[in-house]
Formats: sequence, C-alpha cells, structure tokens
Amino acid sequence: MLLKTILNRIERHKSFVYGEDRILAEEGELVIEIEVQARANGRPICSGCGHPRPGYDRMPEPRRFQYVPLWGMAVCLLYTMRRVNCPTCGVKVEQVPWAEGKSPLTTSYKWFLARWAKRLSCQEVARVFQTTWEHVFRSVKHAVSWGLAHRDLEGIEAIGVDEIQWQRGHKYLTLVYQIDEDCRRLLWVGKDRTTKTFLRFFRMFGKERSSRLRFVCSDMWKPYLKVIAKKAGQAVHVLDRFHVMAKMNKAIDEVRAAEAKRLERDGYEPVLKHSRWCLLKREENLTEKQAVKLSELLRYNLQSVRSRLMREDFQRFWEYFYPACAAKFLDEWCTRTMRSKIEPMKKIGKTLRRHRDLILNWFRAEGAISAGIAEGLNNKAKLTMRKAYGFRTEKAIEIALYHQLGDLPEPKFTHRFC
Ligand SMILES: [Zn+2]
Repeated sequence: MLLKTILNRIERHKSFVYGEDRILAEEGELVIEIEVQARANGRPICSGCGHPRPGYDRMPEPRRFQYVPLWGMAVCLLYTMRRVNCPTCGVKVEQVPWAEGKSPLTTSYKWFLARWAKRLSCQEVARVFQTTWEHVFRSVKHAVSWGLAHRDLEGIEAIGVDEIQWQRGHKYLTLVYQIDEDCRRLLWVGKDRTTKTFLRFFRMFGKERSSRLRFVCSDMWKPYLKVIAKKAGQAVHVLDRFHVMAKMNKAIDEVRAAEAKRLERDGYEPVLKHSRWCLLKREENLTEKQAVKLSELLRYNLQSVRSRLMREDFQRFWEYFYPACAAKFLDEWCTRTMRSKIEPMKKIGKTLRRHRDLILNWFRAEGAISAGIAEGLNNKAKLTMRKAYGFRTEKAIEIALYHQLGDLPEPKFTHRFC
C-alpha cells in the first residue's frame, strides 16, 4: 500500500495532493518525506485575511512540516509555500490547512503530542517520539487554548474553590472546579489566593452564570468566604469535609511537633519519634508497623494521642442525617475540645464554632456534594504539579493543570491517532 493511499484516507485536503515519498537517514534515524503539491486550479489562501487570492510567487525552498511518526520513523510533509498578492494585506505567504502560522508541526501532530502529554510528562513524550520538550509543550498549549475557547460553561450548578501551593515558600494558586455530579472539571486557575484573585474568576464566569449557582464549596480561607458571600450569595455555601479534616490534621501535627520537643527537652524517651503518620492517618489506613506504634503510644497520656482521639471522635459528625443532630454533636464536641487545654485543638474548636453555619450547610446540601470530591481533585492537581516538574513559570503550570483537569473539548478529526 502506498503512503499516499493512507494519507488520503486520514488527512485529505481538497486543494492539495500528496506526491512522491522517500525514506532517508538523518543523523542515524530514518525519516519519511512526502511531498505535497497544490492543485493547479486551487487558489492560495491569504494568511492575513483567510480569503483566496491570486498567486504572486513561490518560496525558493520547500518547508518541512513534522507529521505523526510511523513505525518509529519521523514523517515530514514537504511543501513549497506560495505567496499571494492580496488587495487588503499585500504580498503574504499562503495559509495551509495542515498547519498553523509558522509552526513546523502539523496540527495533527500537535494534537497527537498533546494527547500523549495527558498520559505522560512532557519530557517522556518528547523522549518517546524523538522530539523536543518545547514542541510537546507548545502542542499542549495549543490544545488548551483551543479547548478553553470552545468549552461550554452552561448549566454549572456547583463549584468548589481550593488553593494549592507551588514551589517552595508561600506561593499559591487558586483553583475553581465544577463539582456537579455529572461533570467534574477544573474551570479556572488564578495566581495567589487573595480576594482579588477569586473576584477575577467571577468576572470571567459572569453575573448570569453566577446567579444560577446552587452550591459553592470552599475551605475556611477568609478571602474566599468573603467573595462567595458577595458574588454567589444565593448559593448554599458549604465548608466541606476534606478541608475541615485537613485543618484538624494540621493542628494534630502542631501538637505532636511541640510535644516531641518538650519531651526531648525534659529528658524523656523520644516516644513520638516516627509517629507522624500513625497520628495523622485513620485507623483503617495504618500499616502494621504504624498500628503497633500507635498502640504503644496509647499507653502514654500524650496530648498528641488525645488530639488524635478528638479527631476520630469528630469523624462521627459526618455520618449524621439530620442537621439538628449534627449541630448538637458539633456544639458538644467544641465544648469538650475547648476544655482540653491543648492550644492548637482549642483553636480548631473556636474556628468550627465561628463557621458553624457553613459547616452545617454540608447537611443542608443533602448529599449534593459528595464526600471525596474536593480531596480527589486536590490530589489530582498535586500530582499534575509534581509531574509538571520543570515547568517553572506559573503560566506553564496553569496550562498543565487545564490540560489534565479541565476536561477540555477537542476538534473533530477524520482520524484518531491515539
Ligand atoms: Zn489578505
């Protein structure tokens, strides 16, 4: 079978034909070259305005466009660009249907690389297909901007906002997700986690759509609370389980660190050494070693252990069915905690009391927001950030996040390469 036959099946452009093909060796690698010719009766398209215009001349050298590789061999389309004489734009290079602008990659190849970059890191994709990191990244960027321009933002009823730390130090990104039952995706990424940041999301999202939101989920970060009250006041604002428990874990960690230091200073046995995870993890997730460590710790009357027990006790809160019962439990738990004399836990008690209504909204949402969703998206975002190692600018991280989590649409193709 001729390559031409295959190409005519998967990528046909009506004003162009495929010509000669050859195979050659470049730097020890095999490359397939296929010539492309314009049909004699087809008029070139002006790259300035997109209209067919009379031809002017031809470029002296053919241009090479990288196509999807075949059997481990690079494939290149070779085409001598024409120039048009356009009454509006002047003398311009023509626009060809298989590539955009000055890109040396065909559009098919870009989408091919971008799709692979959802499964592998950009570096890995570049290595597997013998191309450069820049080419892969540019393909991803192209896919993301196409997807963002063509996505549908109608019918969104529930959103969640979350912050994520990047690089070392205190640099944050604000992520906004759609968390409807049938559609979960990243909607927006913004620099920082300030009031201004989150307001920018609502500006993008628009008044109309914001007024149709029914649920907004967040953590206890003040700027977010403020913006939600202002911009989506009609929605039920839920402080979700994941963020409340994450806050509690942070407090337990603080208690443990301080206590470990105190024990060491007072010359006690360092019982809290290597105890971090057995205190933070839930019972059922402990490894055998951690479980042994925990039962050992339980023999001491440690603040760390008592804090952990308080948290385990609090887990029951989420299992209530009636908001009134949950409220009663919450109040009692806070009272007990406030008497504990463990400062970080007392602080948690205070915080929960202050946000009592928003926490109880969890029950008013009546299961519209499923328990693991914020956690799942948060973990996926973290994983993407780790995989995007090498993306130093936040713009690049933003692109990686949209690509992985945005569930962005793609154009319809005659052929799917991967
Ligand atoms: Zn023109």
